[in-house]
Parts: sequence; structure tokens; C-alpha cells
Amino acid sequence: MSKDKKTLTVIGSGPAGMMAAITAAGNGMEVTVIEQNEKLCRKIYATGNGRCNFTNLNWKGDVIRSGDVKKALKIIKGFDNKALIEFFDKLGVPAKTIGDYVYPNSEQALSVAEALICEAKQLNIKLITNEKALDIKNKNNSFEVYTDLGRYISDKLLIAVGGKASPIHGSDGNLNKKIKELGHHISKQMPALVALKTDDKKLEKLAGVRVKCKVFLDIDGKAVNNESGEIIFNKGNISGIPVMILSRYAALAFDEKKKVKLVIDFFPELEEHVLTEKLQQLFYNTKVKNKTAYEVMIGYLNNKLLDYCLRNSGINPDKPAYSNKHKNIIELVSLLKNFELSVKATEGFEKAQVSLGGVPLSEVNDKLESMKIPGLYLAGEILDVDGSCGGYNLQWAFSSGFLAGSDAAK
Ligand SMILES: Cc1cc2nc3c(=O)[nH]c(=O)nc-3n(C[C@H](O)[C@H](O)[C@H](O)COP(=O)(O)OP(=O)(O)OC[C@H]3O[C@@H](n4cnc5c(N)ncnc54)[C@H](O)[C@@H]3O)c2cc1C
Repeated sequence: MSKDKKTLTVIGSGPAGMMAAITAAGNGMEVTVIEQNEKLCRKIYATGNGRCNFTNLNWKGDVIRSGDVKKALKIIKGFDNKALIEFFDKLGVPAKTIGDYVYPNSEQALSVAEALICEAKQLNIKLITNEKALDIKNKNNSFEVYTDLGRYISDKLLIAVGGKASPIHGSDGNLNKKIKELGHHISKQMPALVALKTDDKKLEKLAGVRVKCKVFLDIDGKAVNNESGEIIFNKGNISGIPVMILSRYAALAFDEKKKVKLVIDFFPELEEHVLTEKLQQLFYNTKVKNKTAYEVMIGYLNNKLLDYCLRNSGINPDKPAYSNKHKNIIELVSLLKNFELSVKATEGFEKAQVSLGGVPLSEVNDKLESMKIPGLYLAGEILDVDGSCGGYNLQWAFSSGFLAGSDAAK
């Protein structure tokens, strides 16, 4: 490395590391990125089902979760969704918005990954792959990173190794011990944005069913949160965006050995008494007296789910609708509005998109510099910030990476 330029080593080539590297190099630093994978930006290629939902236009509500949400949002504001969209536009990746979700216009995650790699090369960033950082020493106002193959010395250091989610992409907490040795804490990391495991027998009959509904997360008998959207019943688990969003709260409850269940409302737009009246009209309509219970409700719900709900309310789907008692219709409505599924665990880090927990934001300043060691920066998912589905996690990684890279270059 040349003597006149300030130097920065970045550990991790995820969105946080790459953004920091590009920003620091753009501001005159000499930057080296160390990545243990053979491929740079490996996780980015897999994001958004291969489409990379890199930010969102809607920032209302509980979209960012952290021990210090206010500080996380302040950091994001320092390089917000508009700035990120503009940044990618300049790199030849214009945005496409679907609802509030923002993707590259190509709808290919590789556009984002390759644009970052291309920009890093343009800026002469040294991109080292297939090398794993094993140790970090902070001596005489400089940093030494020891990898399995060599040693890197720099004025400043950024740790952007991600959390523990999706270890297949390289983030597995392997540097946590070293981060702690540097004086930082790491609050317990748990899977978030993940499917929930269940051994509820109902799912044996309902595997493969997709249904739009409202899902309530019930912890120790109390509904604590809810989300709406499409859920998917699978053998052994339940997935879909609403379940994934609720999963981080479920993970915390499992950790505290609390009882967790999902309560599903298949007709959230209809109040219980309105649905009851509707079904009574359907079942006791004399004009359709030869139709079965299943036939009068055929278009109301996925057929497997309808059959299951009818049978479990004491209604024979194959018998005439009118032959059923009022009390069975009441039972049916109760099941359709309060369908309970006990859940016992998350599907774990392997299947999770992000992890909650990490280095508390109280241990870095607003520019992501460590309060323990000047010149050391932390950015991205290694910090105690996780976002909802919809591009919030990538925005966090890019925002924190940008601020860290800009500040390191000052
Ligand atoms: C399947 C999937 C889909 C997703 N889709 C979306 C989406 O559409 N929108 C969204 O906002 N978020 C999405 N996410 C979440 C998002 O990808 C992450 O939050 C984000 O990538 C975190 O960025 P990061 O830079 O902090 O860490 P990471 O992206 O995890 O990168 C960390 C990097 O550090 C490297 N590393 C780790 N340890 C070492 C070491 N010791 N030495 C050298 N290198 C090391 C790793 O190999 C890795 O490349 C998705 C995640 C997954 C798994």
C-alpha cells in the first residue's frame, strides 16, 4: 500500500462491505476487501428470489427492529432509499418499483452484485477472495488482519461479516469471538425472517395450500402482533411473508421458553357476525337445496382448506347444506376466523434471511465507528439491527456501509 494514502481494510464483501469500500475509495482511501468466499457479494445474488429487493418506498411502522430503533433510523436517514436508488442509477442499475418494493429494472440480483464489483474495480479496490480473516490486532494506531493466507495492515478497519443467517452464503458468526476480544458485546443472534416449524397434525392434510389471510402471533395466550398476506402450509412448517415477518418475535419467545401459536383469520374483512349471516344465507337458501355444504362454499376458500374446515366443524361436506345445524355454522365461522396452529421453533439460521441481535448500536457512534477502538468500524447485519421483509435489510446494510466508508475516509 502507498504511504501517502490512508488505508482501509474491509472484512466481508456483502452489501455493507462493498458499499463502504466503494465510498471510502471514492473519497481517496486505498481499500482492500477480504472475502472468504470464492465469489464476491455471494448473498446479494440470492436476494429477493434472485431479483434483489434492495429498498422500499414505505418506511411507516415497525420496519426496523433494534435495541435502538431511533439510532438505526437516523443512520438510514444519512443515506436513505432515495440516495440508494440514485447511487445504483449512476452505476447503470435504474430502479423498478413494484408496489413499494424497489428492485433493479432488470429484476436480476446479479445486476446489483456485478455493478458493485465493477465499481470497486474501477476504483482500484483490491478484491481478495478465498481468504478468511482469522484474527485482528489493533497496534500503534493501525490494524492487522491475519487471514489463513496472509497479513493485511491498514490505518482503519471495517468489519462487515454479516450476522448468522444463511451460513451457506458465508455469514456464520465465525468472527464473533474476535469481535468480543476487541471489547465489543454481541447480543444473542437468532433467526429472523424465517419459516416456523410445527408438528400440528392439521398440516399433514393441508400441505401445499397457499392462502391470503391475517395472522396473529399469540405468545402465552396473548396476541402480540399480526401481519396480513399470503401464507403457505408446508409439511412441518408454515411460511410466507406474514409468518416470516412475525418469526423474529416468535424466535425471542421460543428463547424464553414461551408458548407460541399462530391464530389465522381467513376472512379478516368480514366481522364474525357478518360472516355468520352470510353462511346462514348460503346454507339455508331454499333455491339451492340440493347443493352440498362444500358446493355452496366452493369459491370461498382453497378447496383443501374448505374441506378441512367443514369436517372439523361437524359439517359433512358431501351432505346437503340445509341439513346442517346452526351451531355447526357457528363452529365453522369460529374456525375460519380463529384457526390455531401451534409452532415450536424457527427453521433456524440455515433457512433464515436475516438474524436479529449483534453488536449493540450503543457501541458505535452515528458514523458507525467503534466507541471502544478509534478507527474500527462495524456495518451491516453484524450490528443489532434487522428489518422487515421488503428491502429494509439491504437498505440498512448499504446505509451503514456508506456512512462507515465516508467517515473512515475523513
Ligand atoms: C435468501 C436471502 C434473500 C434475501 N433477500 C433480501 C431482499 O430481497 N431484500 C433485503 O433487504 N434483504 C434480503 N436478504 C437479507 C440481506 O441479504 C442481508 O441482510 C444483507 O446481505 C446483510 O449484509 P451484510 O453486508 O451485513 O452481510 P452479508 O451479506 O452476510 O455479507 C457478509 C460477508 O462477509 C463474509 N465473511 C464472513 N466472515 C468472514 C471472514 N472471517 N473473513 C472474510 N470474509 C468473511 C461472508 O462470506 C459474506 O460474504 C436476504 C437474505 C437471504 C439469505
